Amino acid sequence: MEITNLVRTNIKNLQPYSSARDEFTEVSQKMIYLDANENPFDTGVNRYSDPHQKELKKALSELKKVNQNNILIGNGSDEVLDLLFRCFCEPYKDNVITLPPTYGMYGVLSEINAIENREVLLDADFQPDGQKILSVVDENTKIIFLCSPNNPTGNSFKVKSIKQLLEHFNGLVVVDEAYIDFSEKESWLNQLENYPNLIVIQTLSKAYGLAGLRVGILYASEKIITLLSGIKLPYNSNVLSQKTAIEIFKNNKYFEDKLTEILEEKKRLFKVLLQIQYIQKAYDSEANFILIKMDDALLRYQQLLAKGIVVRNRSKEPLCENCLRITIGTKQENEILINALQTL
Ligand SMILES: *Cc1c(COP(=O)(O)O)cnc(C)c1O
Repeated sequence: MEITNLVRTNIKNLQPYSSARDEFTEVSQKMIYLDANENPFDTGVNRYSDPHQKELKKALSELKKVNQNNILIGNGSDEVLDLLFRCFCEPYKDNVITLPPTYGMYGVLSEINAIENREVLLDADFQPDGQKILSVVDENTKIIFLCSPNNPTGNSFKVKSIKQLLEHFNGLVVVDEAYIDFSEKESWLNQLENYPNLIVIQTLSKAYGLAGLRVGILYASEKIITLLSGIKLPYNSNVLSQKTAIEIFKNNKYFEDKLTEILEEKKRLFKVLLQIQYIQKAYDSEANFILIKMDDALLRYQQLLAKGIVVRNRSKEPLCENCLRITIGTKQENEILINALQTL
């Protein structure tokens, strides 16, 4: 498969913006920088951020065992998702495929970018139906978005079905792994070399506890990374985000401990939920939330709200009738939630 054939015409011919730091890259203490119209007085952030995020990519490359040339950093994964539309999807012509119930941003971004969103429902076990997906593909289908582990259902998709799509679809297959750190399943990162059309997206917003920092990461072939790097805004990732992320990676132990705590809490919460009479089902989850089906989700949602607890009502999503999605909180928060649920 030739990736270049998937690229939008205007992007194929694009001459990327060349920043001051592109034209002079040997950053060292000794030089005097009078090339970027920055303010010379030190505020800690008076200099522009590295448009190529080299230090952060180096840290990520060591942590994830991925080559730096296979990494793109975004201002959250939402930004890198948007870049995919802008790079590959021709407005009013191309289409993408999403698998509801899933993360809402894929659909929103397709609307913003004037791209048709072909929705193919997951099956009753919340798994993709490979045959059905491939049957709606046409010559203008550019991307299939897979969220695994999936939000809001919490399950991950079978390796076999993802492989089927990677092998039989002549376009890009995005595996959004926002919740992969909570799962015991292997990341698709290790498969990048085998599939030139595979794109893996991860984030520091969930397991790493850095949602406010806005760091999303896209992993793909060097060719795809070069294309996307050419259209991203030069300083899309700011100085403080890059610096903080690098610091965080040096102290991984803290986050691993917190992750373990969240997983233990999830197990505990799951057992309690099953004993509550009006809850019909708690779906197995490989993420940091649990989807539960009950008698009347809107009623329970409002009752929880009255007790000061905000959960997410997912009842309007297909296959999620009367479902609430509950994020795993701290032990103390979960105690309050459990007490509330038991006395509704
Ligand atoms: C939370 C979430 C993200 C994270 O988005 P950021 O922009 O990186 O915060 C991405 N994908 C899914 C499916 C999510 O649930």
